[in-house]
Amino acid sequence: MQTNNTQQDHGSAIPALSVESVSFGYGERQALSDVRFTAPAGRFTALLGPNGAGKTTLFALITRLHRAPSGRIAILGHDLATDPGAALARLGIVFQQPTLDLDLSVAQNLRYFAALHGIGRSEANRRLEEELSRLDMLERAGEKVRKLNGGHRRRVEIARALLHRPALLLLDEPTVGLDLPTRRRLIDHVHSLCRDEGIAALWATHLIDEIDPAADRVVVLHRGRIRDEGDVAEVMKRSGAPSLANAFDRLTAEAPREGAAA
Ligand code: ATP
Repeated sequence: MQTNNTQQDHGSAIPALSVESVSFGYGERQALSDVRFTAPAGRFTALLGPNGAGKTTLFALITRLHRAPSGRIAILGHDLATDPGAALARLGIVFQQPTLDLDLSVAQNLRYFAALHGIGRSEANRRLEEELSRLDMLERAGEKVRKLNGGHRRRVEIARALLHRPALLLLDEPTVGLDLPTRRRLIDHVHSLCRDEGIAALWATHLIDEIDPAADRVVVLHRGRIRDEGDVAEVMKRSGAPSLANAFDRLTAEAPREGAAA
């Protein structure tokens, strides 16, 4: 499904996402402090943090809903502050709250989004068939979203986020409210996108069981600061913990640091 451009991008050493020394506050309330990490192409990176860690705030900065007053964010090397068009063109997002129009059909929701990205009608139809097929949703294309269950709505949102062929897919706690088999299926699907399509996924969660210890990277965020980043085995080794759950407990057990969110 990749464009030539994506293949070139994937072949380079430039990370799909690079966050460098980013800080952000809501007024006096510091939500992120000196955050820095990367999300490489072809990897599933879990942004792991408890409630209030700053995950949604970070996503708001990466999507430019908020502006970072300091530091730098780049998507495939395109600086979000100085080259936002090129950066955002390579970004797909599944927000925490569903954002589909319930009274439009699945296909109408996708076509509308494709049009916003300047994708012509026939190309949009081709891509929506491809993405919906991949998610076993093609036969539901004509149905109103209102008639779909939560898991199927999430699948449509993932299909929509992939229509413009992003290199980086952000998912903000996408399994909230879904039952276990549906969660598992979504997680497996995003892993296959990373593995087979070279997409970089940044998956925000506070659920350890959503992380594959053998394959995933983790970025542990706690009270607005990065506590560790790397392959699961590396993070466990550095913290001296026998499991990722135990490492996460240790990394998030400490009191807030100076200047971080309470
Ligand atoms: P959750 O898992 O609960 O969604 P999160 O990791 O996404 O949490 P954020 O929602 O980014 O965390 O919140 C980070 C900090 O910023 C918290 O202390 C939160 O109370 C604060 N915060 C978030 N949004 C606002 C806002 N609009 N105004 C003031 N403070 C905010």
